[in-house]
Amino acid sequence: MTIVNIPPFDATCQYQSIAAQIEKNICAVMASGRYIMGPQVKEFELEFAQYLSCDQVISCNSGTDALHLALRALRIGAGDEVITTPFTFIATTEAIGIVGATPVFVDVDLNTYNIDTELIESKITERTKAILPVHLYGRPGNMTAIMEIARKYNLKVIEDCAQATGAVWSGQKVGTIGDVGCFSFFPTKNLGCFGDGGAIATSDKVIAERVEYLRRHGGKVKYQHEELGLNSRLDTIQAAVLLVKLQYLDRWNSARAEIADYYRNQLANVKGIVLPTTVQEGNSVWNQFTIRVLDKQRSNVQKFLKEKGIGSMVYYPIPLHLQQVHSNLNYPLGSLPISEQLSHEVLSLPMFPELTASAQKVVVESVSQAFFALT
Ligand SMILES: *Cc1c(COP(=O)(O)O)cnc(C)c1O
Repeated sequence: MTIVNIPPFDATCQYQSIAAQIEKNICAVMASGRYIMGPQVKEFELEFAQYLSCDQVISCNSGTDALHLALRALRIGAGDEVITTPFTFIATTEAIGIVGATPVFVDVDLNTYNIDTELIESKITERTKAILPVHLYGRPGNMTAIMEIARKYNLKVIEDCAQATGAVWSGQKVGTIGDVGCFSFFPTKNLGCFGDGGAIATSDKVIAERVEYLRRHGGKVKYQHEELGLNSRLDTIQAAVLLVKLQYLDRWNSARAEIADYYRNQLANVKGIVLPTTVQEGNSVWNQFTIRVLDKQRSNVQKFLKEKGIGSMVYYPIPLHLQQVHSNLNYPLGSLPISEQLSHEVLSLPMFPELTASAQKVVVESVSQAFFALT
C-alpha cells in the first residue's frame, strides 16, 4: 500500500504561488508604520465591495465579530429571537448570544445541508427580529424563499457567508441579498488572510455607519464614545494580504469547482455514500466537499483514509442545539433530526484550489477502496 500525505486543507502552497506579491505588500506596510487602519484597509474595503457588487464593505477583526457587529447595528439584543440553523459553526449562535438575543433553531434540509426554508414560518413569534441563514460549505442557501418570508413578516436578514465568499444565488453574490452579509477571512476560508479577519457587506447606509464606529470603540469622533463598541479592526497587514488574494479568488473558486466535478464524477457509483449536489439557482464555491457516509460507516471510512495518508474532517460532529453552551434553550435529542443525522454522516474530503490532479485521483480511489474493503 502506498502511503501518501494529502491534508484536508493546505495554506502553504497557496502562499508559495503568490509569495513575491504578498511579501512586497507586507513589507510596504511594515515600512509605512501604519499598522492600524492604514490606507490598505480602505482600499481593500472598496475593492471587496466592488467584487461583491454592494455599496459598502466595513472590515473587522473576524467573521465572528462581523456577525456580532451586524446584530448590534440592527439593534438586535435582549428579548429578541433570531432564527438560524443548528448545523453550523458555533460562531453563528455565539454572536446571537453575545448580544443578548436568543437563537431559535430551524432544522436543515438533508440535500443542501442548509436551513429548511419550509420550516421557518412555524418558528416565527412576536419576538422574532431576524433570520440568520448560513451558506454552509460554500453552498448558497435558498435566499429567494428566505427573502420572501422576511418581507412578509418584516424581519431582517443577516447572511453568514463565512464559508461562501464568491458564491452566487440567482445572479447575486451571497452577502448582498439580505440586509447585511458577514464574511470571514480565517485562513481556511475561500478568501483567507494570514490570521483573523472579517467584514460586513451592506447597501444600507445606517448599518454601514453603525458598524463603522462600533468596530472602533463606539465613537464617531475620536475620544467621544456614544455607546459600547469593540476593538475590531482589520489589521493593515491582513488587508495588504487580502488585496493580493482577492485578485485570485474567482480563479481559486473555479479550481475548487473543477475538483468538485471530478469528485462527483468519479465517486458517482460508490454505494454507501451520498454526494453533494450542485446548485441549480446559482453556484457553490466548495469551501468543503462533504459527502454523507451511510450505514454508520463514517468512522471506518475515515480510519481507512487516514491509514492511506488522506485527511478528512467532520464538520460538525455535534449540532449546536445539543451543545452544552445551549442546554438552557431546551432542545432535546431528536428535536432537530436532520441536523442530528448529518452530524453522524458527514465527511469532508480534501478540498483546496492547489490540490493536484494526482492527489485528487488518490482521494477518489481510496474512497472507493474504503467501501470495497468494508463490504
Ligand atoms: C468560520 C466561520 C465563522 C467565524 O469566522 P471567524 O473569522 O473564525 O470568526 C462564522 N460562521 C461560520 C459558518 C464559519 O464557518
